Amino acid sequence: MSTSSSFPSYASSFEEFERILDPCFSEFVIANSDGETALEECLPYLEGIDHSSAKVINRLAWCDNLLDIIKDCGRNWMRGDGVLTRAQYRKRLTCKKWYCEDCGQKNGRVHSRRFMRLNHIWGPITEKSACGQLVITVPDGDRFRFLHKKGPSDLQKIARKVTKKFFPGRKVVQSFQAFGDTNLEKFNPHVHSAIEFAYGETLKLSLEKLVEIRLYVAALMKKYGCTYDGDYDIHWNYARGVKQVQHMLRYLCRPNPGPDNRKALTDNPELLYFFMSGMSRFKYIRYYGFPRNLIKDSAEAADELTVFEKLAGEKIVWDWQDVISQSELELVWNPLVDERLSNDLLRMRSP
Ligand SMILES: [Zn+2]
Repeated sequence: MSTSSSFPSYASSFEEFERILDPCFSEFVIANSDGETALEECLPYLEGIDHSSAKVINRLAWCDNLLDIIKDCGRNWMRGDGVLTRAQYRKRLTCKKWYCEDCGQKNGRVHSRRFMRLNHIWGPITEKSACGQLVITVPDGDRFRFLHKKGPSDLQKIARKVTKKFFPGRKVVQSFQAFGDTNLEKFNPHVHSAIEFAYGETLKLSLEKLVEIRLYVAALMKKYGCTYDGDYDIHWNYARGVKQVQHMLRYLCRPNPGPDNRKALTDNPELLYFFMSGMSRFKYIRYYGFPRNLIKDSAEAADELTVFEKLAGEKIVWDWQDVISQSELELVWNPLVDERLSNDLLRMRSP
């Protein structure tokens, strides 16, 4: 694996991924360079959905290239040194992309990291925890209105207006999901909002309140340009106690789109490109009403390197220059003395 001397000794997983990919990106751009086309291929956003088929072919190539790069996910191991014990560690290098079958799957790395962040911000989930969940879905004929660079954010803003009006002062975790459970290739933007309730509070909503919410959503959607005239799809459910609340919040964190959507989207390269490239830095999960410092700390608390130091019980200094392949690792791995601390972290005791 190619590395450069500018690698930091300690970096967040995202930086790690970007830096590792950087040489691959340059190669791709140069290889496809013919004047401005190459630059267009690098544009991070899909500007609209009415592009010529020639550009679609380029987008497909771009997506293929990303998929090609992440084929290396999990196959290389970076060295770390324990500050306390001087033990040598090996950390699996992974891509942490939703479209990776390993990282993006249910309970995979992306999902786990999001849930870990949520746990840090939400606080301990106990038998006395309770939350309600409001799901707002865009009517079929109006979904295309949210299919542009700002569309998913706009839908999140609409959902936030609703929770602010009907559940003022409460803590809310919001998640944008792009597809439904059954039709994996059909763009079906919806927002889940989990709302914190106190123990013993009524979680059922009256019919009057549900109707009020539905009318307000309809008004906001129409203001946005939606033309649907029927009853808007508003779903309310709730959870109590560790098991139910955890289940609800974990589901809310799942990557959507996920690898299954990617596979289903083969006939729709525009949509695939939109989520693989244009939405690559999009904040799918948003928090409202929680202390700012908790939200800020959560990125670090859920960072892989922080989690690994906890697992190891000591600070680890990572060496980005020292990366070995899976087969090289197998040659030095000694099952008698070496430990597997997790699927992605090893402690090597052998000399
Ligand atoms: Zn991956």
